Amino acid sequence: MKTARTHSLAQAAAALTPALGLMPAGAATVNNTYIQNSATEIRGQLGGYARPTVYVNQRACGEPSPSAFACGPYTISVGTSFLQGQENSYGNYVAKFIIAHEWGHSIQFTRGINKRAPLQELQADCVGGIFAKYAQTTLRYPSFIESAVRSARAAADYSTHGTPSQRDYYSRYGYANGLSACLNNI
Ligand SMILES: [Zn+2]
Repeated sequence: MKTARTHSLAQAAAALTPALGLMPAGAATVNNTYIQNSATEIRGQLGGYARPTVYVNQRACGEPSPSAFACGPYTISVGTSFLQGQENSYGNYVAKFIIAHEWGHSIQFTRGINKRAPLQELQADCVGGIFAKYAQTTLRYPSFIESAVRSARAAADYSTHGTPSQRDYYSRYGYANGLSACLNNI
């Protein structure tokens, strides 16, 4: 039975994760509410630069499976399973950094910014970093920049997204220097 199987898988995961140290205590459930609340928070900082809608589990960018995409100035498309996996693996609130990275692409679309690889992606990392700072200082979240950097480093591909050290550098650059530096200095 589908329900019973899901339940037992969830129990198995719950039993495993503390031993593996993967899921921080009190890790958030990354569902539509969490994602839309995160979008509202990001809009509070960056809504003057771009105002995309965040679609959840809808493959709104035509992607083969939901993860995290921005396609055009008004569309961000994410998946709950992907973002939950990122938080479980790298720490609480990593999903917010990832959505803010996509928001960075929305700003690029809105402003017609089209940089050569990997700078287009590194500028989005920079925007993710500035939201991590805003979340910490204005929204009073515990700092999640270290978790965010771990997530970014792990997804480095040495081409489109850059190297782990480049992703690390530009995420922290945004965190330290803010949006105008991300937009004007990269
Ligand atoms: Zn990107």
